Amino acid sequence: MSSNSRVQILLPVAVDQAFDYRPPVGVVAAKGMLVKVPFRGKSTVGVVWCESGAADVPDSKVKNIEEVFGLPPMPEKLMQFIEWTANYNMAHNGAVLGMAVSGIGDQGSGIREKKNNKTDPRSLTPDHWQLTAAQNTALDKLLPHIRADNFNVTLLDGVTGSGKTEVYFSAIRKSLEEHPDNQILIMLPEIALTQSLIERVKSRLGITPTVWHSNLTPKKRRENWLAIATGDAKLIIGARSSLFLPYLKLSLIVVDEEHDASYKQEEGVVYNARDMAVVRASIEKIPIILVSATPSLETVVNVKAKKYDEINLPARFGDAKMPEIELVDLRKEKREKNCWVSEKLRRELAENLARGEQSLLYLNRRGYAPLTLCRACGHHLKCPYCSAYLVQHGKNLQLLCHHCGHSSRMPEKCPECQEKDTLIPLGPGIERLEEEIKDFLPQARILTLSSDTVESAKAMKKAFADIEDHNVDIIIGTQMVAKGHHFPQLTLVGIIDADSGLAGGDFRAAERTFQVLHQVSGRAGREKLPGKVIIQTFQPESRVIQTILANDRHAFMVMEMRVREDNNLPPFGRLAALIISGKKEAMVRNYCNMLAKSAPMLNGVKILGPAPAPLTLLRGKFRYRFLVKANKSIHIQKIIRDWLNASPVPSSLKVKVDIDPYSFV
Ligand SMILES: [Zn+2]
Ligand SMILES: [Zn+2]
Repeated sequence: MSSNSRVQILLPVAVDQAFDYRPPVGVVAAKGMLVKVPFRGKSTVGVVWCESGAADVPDSKVKNIEEVFGLPPMPEKLMQFIEWTANYNMAHNGAVLGMAVSGIGDQGSGIREKKNNKTDPRSLTPDHWQLTAAQNTALDKLLPHIRADNFNVTLLDGVTGSGKTEVYFSAIRKSLEEHPDNQILIMLPEIALTQSLIERVKSRLGITPTVWHSNLTPKKRRENWLAIATGDAKLIIGARSSLFLPYLKLSLIVVDEEHDASYKQEEGVVYNARDMAVVRASIEKIPIILVSATPSLETVVNVKAKKYDEINLPARFGDAKMPEIELVDLRKEKREKNCWVSEKLRRELAENLARGEQSLLYLNRRGYAPLTLCRACGHHLKCPYCSAYLVQHGKNLQLLCHHCGHSSRMPEKCPECQEKDTLIPLGPGIERLEEEIKDFLPQARILTLSSDTVESAKAMKKAFADIEDHNVDIIIGTQMVAKGHHFPQLTLVGIIDADSGLAGGDFRAAERTFQVLHQVSGRAGREKLPGKVIIQTFQPESRVIQTILANDRHAFMVMEMRVREDNNLPPFGRLAALIISGKKEAMVRNYCNMLAKSAPMLNGVKILGPAPAPLTLLRGKFRYRFLVKANKSIHIQKIIRDWLNASPVPSSLKVKVDIDPYSFV
């Protein structure tokens, strides 16, 4: 190999193109190599993207590479995946690259010291785990998919409590035993779930997995990144961004809770990690397993079209039965003022407590009260930077905006009418629900679970240990409790407000409500004791509630599929959103009007908007939205690219393109 006089380096900054640099004399800078270069006045880590320079850059403008790192070069397939992701999601190549090199830090300092972070598959403990007959059948069906040396997608579909995790753990064990060099990635939708899975991996397989998520310390990040890049890490548990790491020999991806909307990344590079995981598996030519008790409609349609294979785990593990479900019609139910738990649910809670069994109350609202109202003038306390109400938190009367994080003390006077002592909380958050329960069951030991109460991995671990050791009688939780957790002694689940997710203009609202109700219900009665679920609802006749009651996911899916197909909505049609934001509303509106005038008029494409976003003001910026609907065969990215290229964005505005949007606020 002779040294090259110039190469193009892609940098982790929001641009598409790579920049020309000159390698040190006598040093080969081959494609994929990680380097340190000067950029905008400081040293930055980059990747050799092309082994020759761009012809139109004069020699005098080309700077020198400061250092070529002695690390494994970025695999060619990862480079392809970065470009594919950027292109599909209309993000910059450099921004996607940022996720792949984020373990190195800005300067690459300390990246040469190689830490010993090996997970040696030879240290796998012998397997004493007994799979049930159903689990064994599922495993037997799954193994050929994993052993096949090619790209294939399998949906592992099993009711809550059927032991899907045990099945894929067994598959992972086999894979590591047969190919000790393989690297396996298990993806989870939320950091909160990683801790309990790590513990289960440790006890079941005897090896410590390598973890990847945004809460790692810079030191841990660097260590884990290196272990992944050098192939030392064999089993990786990660959140969304783990998908972009430079695995030396990635051989299998498992996407657990594949239906979860948290796989959609909404900030920075906007992408769906579940969908991109399938793309990465296809580029790597490896198998991928999607796991869920309530698969997304997108995945179900792909199974129906025979693009994905499906393995079912129909029954619950061991003797556990599906819980019995009862409805409480909140239209008929008389409840005391500022009480949210119906008579029936109160009775069941008291009886469950008397029997010494555990209960769970589900309410997807953090804090004490979602609204604060002035009794004198009717004013609601709003965030000064967002079109959103402030949420009351805690006994010290803190007000918090859940959109921008703005926090303030409860004012003594109403900011509108200046009256004193007129501000009252409206509606329940989980803290207020706790107050209600304490009032009528003072002897119960209560634990509230939300992102406010279990912020650290340590707090999380303690909370789950307390639940498992039965130091808790009643758990009150937000959507955090709906996901993947195993509460072995829980027998009663109460859903406080089943309809709260159905409001708003989100076409996935019914599907998501079905999933969350099904998942939360599925927490009950997972072992020997039978489970019971009480659902409080204002809409007992709705198809979501009715199919939950009948435990008929299939019926729900068939109806939902028809609705989507009739309306040409995903996965039958394509959707993209444009969100235009800026500090001056008039400028945002003017630009939107200009865009509207130049909107493409094409067969099979419909452009809705501009309209003020439901969350019109966010962090002090005004937001307007367009929605682009297109037939499935249409290349929606090209249309949007051409459209935006014809109307350059003023520097004071920002246009966010959201392909396959999940959020409509
Ligand atoms: Zn007032
Ligand atoms: Zn705010």
